[in-house]
Amino acid sequence: MFTGRTIVHCRACGTKVNYVVPADDNRPRAVCPHCATIHYENPLNVVGTVPVWQDQVLLCKRAIEPRYGLWTLPAGFMELGETLAEGALRETDEEAGAHVELEGLFTVLNVVRVGQVHFFYRARMTDTHLNPGSETLEARLFREDEIPWDELAFRTVRETLIRYFADRKAGQFSIHCADIA
Ligand code: ZN
Repeated sequence: MFTGRTIVHCRACGTKVNYVVPADDNRPRAVCPHCATIHYENPLNVVGTVPVWQDQVLLCKRAIEPRYGLWTLPAGFMELGETLAEGALRETDEEAGAHVELEGLFTVLNVVRVGQVHFFYRARMTDTHLNPGSETLEARLFREDEIPWDELAFRTVRETLIRYFADRKAGQFSIHCADIA
């Protein structure tokens, strides 16, 4: 289980922290022995889209680690000051330069192992203009039979694509919640 424990120094005073269970708490936290600040670590949200043009899905080839050179849906860490939808649109613009309209939340995937929750929206591309950003080597459209299943960067991308094509075949899209082991 992912327990955090990634904090080394106090963010308030710089002293090396200790992981101890504070009074009235039930799990170890990063506690500063100098100023007593308790640093809480909580899951991070990753937001992205499944951009679709006709019968094709847009994937981006990563230009950064981890998973350099593998294919992903446009997605990234949510920023403070934005909603899930705003984050999904921002990441789609930053990584692919694609013009899309969101069509609804599609997958909510718990990745407890790394302390993350991934959210993907279905998105309709309004044109085929692409302008990949610095985190992307290449962005291109794939038909279902062209998807590079063995070269996908993340399990959540794979799980989202599997559900997308299954729902499309069934003629109805719903919201899927799942846990990624
Ligand atoms: Zn401190």
